[in-house]
Amino acid sequence: MRRILVAGNWKMNGDPARNRELVGGIIAGLPARAGAEVAICPPFPFLAAVAEHLAGSPVRLGAQDVSEHAAGAYTGEVSVTMLLATGCRYVIVGHSERRTLLGETSERVAAKTGAALAAGLVPIVCVGETLAEREAGRTEAVISAQLDAALTVCGGATLSKSVIAYEPVGAIGTGKVATPEQAQEVHAHIRRNIARRDTAVAEGLGILYGGSMKGENAPGLLAMPDIDGGLIGGASLKAPDFLAIVAAAGTD
Ligand code: PEP
Repeated sequence: MRRILVAGNWKMNGDPARNRELVGGIIAGLPARAGAEVAICPPFPFLAAVAEHLAGSPVRLGAQDVSEHAAGAYTGEVSVTMLLATGCRYVIVGHSERRTLLGETSERVAAKTGAALAAGLVPIVCVGETLAEREAGRTEAVISAQLDAALTVCGGATLSKSVIAYEPVGAIGTGKVATPEQAQEVHAHIRRNIARRDTAVAEGLGILYGGSMKGENAPGLLAMPDIDGGLIGGASLKAPDFLAIVAAAGTD
C-alpha cells in the first residue's frame, strides 16, 4: 500500500515572519492521523529556521534543488550533505522551472537524483511535458525520455527510494489543472515504464501529481489509482489551502 505524500514547493517565496506563521498554521491544522505524509520545501536560506519551527511535528522538511557534486568549487550550489545537516528528508529535482529557465538537462537531473539517493535523501523527481509537446502527441515519449535518464543512472531498485512527480508544464501556476483522467493516464504510463525494469519497484513507487492542485480538485485527483499525492506550488503558501489538500487524503 503506497502512502500519500503532500509536498509544498514554496519556490522563491517567504520571509522569516511569514514562514513562522505559515508553518504554525499548517502544524496547528493537521488532522490527528493525517492520511498523508506532509512535507514543505522552503528556499535554501530558510531551511534551518523552518526545521526549528517543524521540530516535534510530523511535517517533513525538503529542499527545492541540490547539486550533483559532493563539495568544492561550485559557487552558489548546495550539497546533499548540507541538506541532510539541515534536517531535510526530501529534495525536489528537475522541476520544470529549472529545466526551462536554467537549462537543466535530464542527464543533470539524473545525476542529482543519484547524489540524493546515495546520501539517503528522498528525491522528488519532476517530469512533465509542455503544452506544445502534449498537443503534438508527444507526452508519453517526453516522459519516457526523462525517466529513462534517471533509470539509466540510478537503476530501478535504487529509484524505488525516490518519488516521481508528474507535472504537466501547462498546468503549473495557471489554474489549468489536468483532469483526473488525463493525469491518471500519464501516471499509469510512468508506472508501466518503470515496471518494464522492475514490477515490484513500480508497484511501490509514489507518483505525485503537480499543477494547480487545490482543495477543490484534490479529491478527484487523489481518487485515481496511480496518483499517490501532490506536489503543490501556489496552494502551499496559505495554510488553509494547503491543509484542504492534506484533508483530501483523509485519515489513516
Ligand atoms: C509546482 O510548481 O510544482 C506546482 C505544482 O505549482 P502550482 O501548484 O502552483 O501549479
